[in-house]
Amino acid sequence: MAWFKKVRKPIEPLAKNQPSRVPEGLWVKCPSCGEVIYNKDLVGTLNVCPKCAHHLRIGAEERLRMLFDDDWIEYDSGLQSTDPLKFVDTKPYRKRLDATIAATGMKDAVICATGRIEGIETSVAAMEYSFIGGSMGVVVGEKITRAIERALERRLPVVIVSSSGGARMMEGALSLMQMAKVCGALARLDRARLPFISVLTDPTTGGVTASFAMLGDLNIAEPKALIGFAGPRVIEQTIRQTLPEGFQRSEFLLEKGMLDLIVDRREMKSVIANALRFMGARTRVQAAPAPETLAPVGAEPAPQA
Ligand SMILES: [Zn+2]
Repeated sequence: MAWFKKVRKPIEPLAKNQPSRVPEGLWVKCPSCGEVIYNKDLVGTLNVCPKCAHHLRIGAEERLRMLFDDDWIEYDSGLQSTDPLKFVDTKPYRKRLDATIAATGMKDAVICATGRIEGIETSVAAMEYSFIGGSMGVVVGEKITRAIERALERRLPVVIVSSSGGARMMEGALSLMQMAKVCGALARLDRARLPFISVLTDPTTGGVTASFAMLGDLNIAEPKALIGFAGPRVIEQTIRQTLPEGFQRSEFLLEKGMLDLIVDRREMKSVIANALRFMGARTRVQAAPAPETLAPVGAEPAPQA
């Protein structure tokens, strides 16, 4: 056969089960400056790019590890949505929940815990964006409300770290009711003269911004976080105007008086502790009481590393 008549075989693609020689997740590319960062270096910088200080998103557990001095006690970790509307969108909500629970190991989009921040016993709720966009359904609303009530009962300050796309649409009006419920609990905290610090991280939007995230005695944001109610595209279409540069970012909101502070994640803990001391919170030297004596909500508090 003449050479030009040879049938060329296409190069065979890599078999799917053949492992790549580059280990997964060893390096991260900074979405802001493009710097390739060794994953282990990010641990030391709390997931902040060492070159341009871009704040990469972190999960709820990492957030608690960053804020607390040592161990914390988690509450209500077993609460799970019952899918009250039997909601179906592109797939049934029940299936979406099950898949997310399996992927994240969490039952819903918030971790509520008590622990010490520079020695100050504090009730902290940290939201988890990877759980259905950190959306607030019945469980998130209930857990945060309980975290506030726990603070009321034990006279502790409250810190809520928001990272959320807003209310959980799959729970309809029930998720919207959580806005009022959490705000009601915060009003009682305010009357009891206990401090509440709201930490807004990328992104904080929708029903979370429209309720507790903006109600802090101090509203602290991370740099360049997206914070808003509706997304910029929806607003542009509604008002038929081009939005200004940096609209809905922390720096813009600080300038317009919507925020009190923008704090680098690496300084967040000491800023929060200083603010709490300023607001009268005192360092508690004695150990926290045993969990079973302080669970007023039928929860099964389990110590967590
Ligand atoms: Zn960078």
